[in-house]
Amino acid sequence: MNEILLDYNLQELQQLMQQLNEPKYRAKQLLDSLLLGQNIDTNTTLPKSLKDKLSTFVWQPIEIYKAFQGKSAIKFLYKLCDNNIIEGIVMFHKYGNTLCVSTQVGCRMGCKFCASTLDGLIRNLTAGEILGQVVAVNKYLQGNIVDRKITNIVLMGSGEPLDNYDNVLKFLNMVTSKDSFNFSRRNISLSTCGIADKTDKLADDFPGIVLTISLHSAHQAKRQEIMPIANKFSLSQLMKSVKNYQVKSGRRVVFEYTLIDGVNDSINDAKSIRDLTKGIMCHINLIPLNYVKERNLKTSKNITNFEMQLKKLGCSVTVRNSMGSEIDGACGQLRRKHLEETE
Ligand code: SF4
Repeated sequence: MNEILLDYNLQELQQLMQQLNEPKYRAKQLLDSLLLGQNIDTNTTLPKSLKDKLSTFVWQPIEIYKAFQGKSAIKFLYKLCDNNIIEGIVMFHKYGNTLCVSTQVGCRMGCKFCASTLDGLIRNLTAGEILGQVVAVNKYLQGNIVDRKITNIVLMGSGEPLDNYDNVLKFLNMVTSKDSFNFSRRNISLSTCGIADKTDKLADDFPGIVLTISLHSAHQAKRQEIMPIANKFSLSQLMKSVKNYQVKSGRRVVFEYTLIDGVNDSINDAKSIRDLTKGIMCHINLIPLNYVKERNLKTSKNITNFEMQLKKLGCSVTVRNSMGSEIDGACGQLRRKHLEETE
């Protein structure tokens, strides 16, 4: 694969200009052009001589291949330079527009209720491919660098962000940079299935974003059954890292809890959540299970009651509105459907 220009931050582009015997200011012109979603043919600020030197690079690593318009969301299938397909969704809220980005093609974490992991990990996305999703959707919504049409980013698409740590960290630095889209850390959420050591690393490298933990069970044995990562990092190790992140970032942590019929939706399950999260500044998001046809799991019939139980136990809890569900099923399903259709 050719080198991707969006993988370069401003300093790296300045070094590239130096190597190409070009003035330093061209780096910022190039970066602005890339963030606007321009490519070599649509750029109007760089001289032809420089564009010739940059013709072997990939300018835009993400192409919107299909868009599915819903009432309050648009789902996208993106095509990558190597023809891999990933998906994303932008959700329109009263307070702004949230883009959910993917960090890997596929995922190797094997969570039992998830469609993204059915083919395993295909490959990591580069920082520029993650940033490219923001660029492509912002352009699709007719935004620019200053007047962005995306206000919030959640790293909750396919892939485990902390399993692609270096590229994700570079993306976070780039997207929050004043040279780039200048997102506030407060408006970014990162969701992990519970890689405790990398959560500690994140607390040192990039605190201040919202840490979201895919919990799905507060019982160690049950969690091991649903989420293989729990075999490597126990709940007690994970909670230590969560507390550490909280202390270093000063932010409330969010726990995501997918309710699966007969698996994790009893009163005892609710009590275990309360016990596990006691003393932690946190919020619990209950998520109705998205149907994955390859798995034999159903969404809980007990969602409202489970929410009420948690409230009674003193937890801060809401049921997540699954926006965009009318467009298609679970995260990962859209990509699989596309692959099946093209086979
Ligand atoms: S829930 Fe997240 S970490 Fe688990 S398999 Fe799916 S994409 Fe991977």
